[in-house]
Amino acid sequence: MENNKKRPALGKKRDIIILGIVVILLASWMLWSFLLKPRFSSPDEQVYAWIFHENELLHKVALDGEIHTFNLELEHDQEIHKLQIETYSDYTIAVVKSNCPDKICVNTGKVSIMGQSIACLPNHVIIKIGSQDNPIGEGGIDG
Ligand SMILES: [Zn+2]
Repeated sequence: MENNKKRPALGKKRDIIILGIVVILLASWMLWSFLLKPRFSSPDEQVYAWIFHENELLHKVALDGEIHTFNLELEHDQEIHKLQIETYSDYTIAVVKSNCPDKICVNTGKVSIMGQSIACLPNHVIIKIGSQDNPIGEGGIDG
């Protein structure tokens, strides 16, 4: 009879220990996710794509996984510049279609890293990957 009473008691004690470990793990995970992790990632980490035409900012879009499509139809010196730009769920942006002759912009493919850029010189369009405050990127469309 005594043995039978002790067994559940031991079982309960072990359950409490396991429960305690689970609670501690869960608490650490929550502490990490909600308190510590946001502090490590600076607000500059959100990447933005800056879309320029003739050095004029047309769109600034966060590459946060949201899918957007921009159909640009711009007139310049009696030429029509047509581009289709898309953002993807993998935090990238790309020129999908363009009416430029060289298609360098389309062939550049997806970009997502700060400092990268997509240039369409015939259409005077440049997409620069930067932070929320600064477009960073090689190349320009001056001149
Ligand atoms: Zn192009």
